[in-house]
Amino acid sequence: MSTPKRIAILGSTGSIGTQTLEVIQSHPDSFKAEVLTAGSNASLLIQQALYFRPDTVVISDTDKYAIVKEALKNEGISVLTGSEGLSQAIDIQTVDMVLTALVGYAGLQPTLHAIQAGKPIALANKETLVVAGAYVMRLAQQMNVPVIPVDSEHSAIFQCLLGESSDEIEKIILTASGGPLLNFTTRQIEKVTPAQALNHPNWDMGAKITIDSATLMNKGLEAIEAKWLFNLEPDQIDIVVHPQSIIHSMVQFVDGSVKAQMGMPDMRLPILFALNYPGRSPASFPRLDFREINQLNFSYPDKKKFPNLNIALKALRQGGNIPCVMNAANEVAVTAFLQKKISFTGMPEVIERTIGQASYISDPGLEDYFASDLEARKIAESIVSQFMRKI
Ligand code: NAD
Ligand code: MG
Repeated sequence: MSTPKRIAILGSTGSIGTQTLEVIQSHPDSFKAEVLTAGSNASLLIQQALYFRPDTVVISDTDKYAIVKEALKNEGISVLTGSEGLSQAIDIQTVDMVLTALVGYAGLQPTLHAIQAGKPIALANKETLVVAGAYVMRLAQQMNVPVIPVDSEHSAIFQCLLGESSDEIEKIILTASGGPLLNFTTRQIEKVTPAQALNHPNWDMGAKITIDSATLMNKGLEAIEAKWLFNLEPDQIDIVVHPQSIIHSMVQFVDGSVKAQMGMPDMRLPILFALNYPGRSPASFPRLDFREINQLNFSYPDKKKFPNLNIALKALRQGGNIPCVMNAANEVAVTAFLQKKISFTGMPEVIERTIGQASYISDPGLEDYFASDLEARKIAESIVSQFMRKI
């Protein structure tokens, strides 16, 4: 019997992180959790460590370090903290693969560090590619490090492309559930509360991506993610609303043939696929029954009702540091919306105005991305405070 693949889960206490642990728990002969990391949820990290017995855990919030250290002092599990700790844990020789499930811009540097350390990546953190896709993919190529998508749409495209030649892709078709506000009127959308926007019909996810799904920014981020993962031109990326989330995405080839990947809307499937790649292993997760699905629907996304999608598709075409600026402004806007500082429709306004005011860099290097992110956050924060003065 071969030894289990040892996984570092960056963000083990989040939605993707906990589902990755479920996959590991159900495949103990295939995988082992070698490193677990959390932002600030010390109690769940401790619980996970005691159950999964990793080599090392990292609590990024240094204020929580003492609590985790104390709880695990007699367990033979190393406890690290801060960004330095995260880098050290990624470097551990026994880590065979790094699953990146941090949320937002915070995922960029650890992912770069893992690529530099030569560790294969299972990529959930899409913002990494939105911010610095050109740089990240070039580095991965130089280091000969595979980047296997975890995002369900990109996993679907990756699976459709197995055995195919990438120069025979005509276009990809990203499916979008449409989010919780799909059938809301423009009037209703103006008054949407965080609780309504957090109520996703098909997926149980972290707060940031759930709001991004409600604004359709998520699909825009995914279009940019797809560009870099599959080396596509903007015109080769189509988006179709498919509320059942059964077809996870499709590829249309130059001869007009279309391949779709389907399955239950269950993130454990793309997670298992990414951990296992290039093989598959049996799993007992619930199966699709097409007789019960009855119908699959498709429609155009409503870009008027959800302007964030257009903002992101424009940023995809503009390139340079614009997607990085947009991502930072979006993170600020989502936080402000969740804190009830701005309305749902205030989010696209904050993002558009930030892009308008930020410096444009056509061919950014790594330092430029860091600077652009910082500048965009400052601009977006000041726009949010102007909004608040108006209320
Ligand atoms: P989440 O908020 O549930 O979890 C985030 C994890 O990252 C937590 O463990 C948290 O402790 C950690 N974290 C957050 N900020 C941190 C920081 N500054 N430093 C260190 N650790 C930090 O998020 P999620 O829904 O699991 O999403 C994770 C990523 O996966 C996102 O990029 C998201 O877009 C992507 N994704 C998620 C889903 C899903 O179903 N949840 C699907 C596709 C893609
Ligand atoms: Mg997705």
